Amino acid sequence: MTNQPARYTCALLALTLAAGSSAAAQGAAPVAATVVVRAARMLDPGSGQVVRNASVVVTGDRITAVNPASLPAGAQVLDLGDVTLMPGFIDLHTHLSGEIGATSFIEPVLETNVDGAYKAVRHGRTTVMAGFTTVRDFGGQITVALGRAVDRGDVTGPRVIPSRNALGITGGHCDVTGFAPGVLELGPKDGVADGPWEVVEAVRYQIKHGAQVIKTCATAGVLSLEGPVGAQQYTYEELKAMVDEAARHGVRVAAHAHGVEGIKAAVRAGVTSIEHGSVLDDEAIALMKQHGTYLVPTAYLRDRINLAVLPPLVRRKAETVLPLAAESNRKAIAAGVKIAFGTDAAVYPHGENAKEFAVYVKLGMTPLAALQSATTVAAEVLGKDDRGAIAVGKLADLIAVPGDPLQDITATERVLWVMQGGKVLKDERPRTRT
Ligand SMILES: [Zn+2]
Repeated sequence: MTNQPARYTCALLALTLAAGSSAAAQGAAPVAATVVVRAARMLDPGSGQVVRNASVVVTGDRITAVNPASLPAGAQVLDLGDVTLMPGFIDLHTHLSGEIGATSFIEPVLETNVDGAYKAVRHGRTTVMAGFTTVRDFGGQITVALGRAVDRGDVTGPRVIPSRNALGITGGHCDVTGFAPGVLELGPKDGVADGPWEVVEAVRYQIKHGAQVIKTCATAGVLSLEGPVGAQQYTYEELKAMVDEAARHGVRVAAHAHGVEGIKAAVRAGVTSIEHGSVLDDEAIALMKQHGTYLVPTAYLRDRINLAVLPPLVRRKAETVLPLAAESNRKAIAAGVKIAFGTDAAVYPHGENAKEFAVYVKLGMTPLAALQSATTVAAEVLGKDDRGAIAVGKLADLIAVPGDPLQDITATERVLWVMQGGKVLKDERPRTRT
């Protein structure tokens, strides 16, 4: 998706208004001092071990013990029964502020950030209820504000690692294209920046206003009205200036890249992850392995995207690149490129994020590796060691699924129970008759 245009209306008001109804509806129970979560099975993706009759002790928003010899006296016990307990999932590529539809390409001139904020509240709730307790979101200032609202407890949603506005060239995939001159002309503050110094300015501005990761469009894209889908857009020099400036602030770069030349330039410049990676040759794969670059496949959308609602130019681009992307993903997995979970939610309906797991398994990953991509590996990509595992000191972000996801990966699509920061957000376990 492209950048949201500059809309300087009161997004905060929208979120505040949304918070009232959402908080009332969610009815989350107050966090008890200490809760023991019990489950028939627990899978910690780091070790790959399934522990039977597991107990996880949660105090406040953290895990304070795992399978202790004796349970703390006076703690509330939550026995989840016949489920598999896992750490909350992380989706590294979402756009919570919208969803692709017939009017997507004119929304930039029809809607304000306030509209986007309301949508983000709804999509955020759907996403966390699907078991995704953290997302890395590319959604402009809207999802910077959404992350703050979630942290304050105003709305129910995933923890957000936001990019603010994505950086791209004038007329590129991260610009707003298709309108007459003078309509939505964006600049570095909005993420549209040309040449290393404008890029540096754009990075600084995004970070000043809440970006915790920099997202860039290294190549042309599918869902935008510009030219050949794989064409390189940023030069190596621009990408290097971006990565170096972000690094001075301790911030990493995620590069949207479909074509192989743009992928290589981004990898050589030192980006942390390649998003999509649709056309990979042997040299690109070798470079990614050499630099330790992660691939975020965004694979499920290929089966789910509704091409019928898209303009003909966009549809042609999708039909060209998506089959190539499946083959490139498969080659990268076989070659041992590090795969990190990301879906491009918004291109398909929010909440179906977990369907990405089964596609990874079809493309050659083991179920355990697929689960790691959304937990331990995704946490590595974020540089956050407080999540993605069930261990003492980690955030109490836990989910439960029926059955055993190592035997049937689609169990991840049926999340029954969600805890985030020690608060139970969802409990849809089947009731047993007493
Ligand atoms: Zn995207």
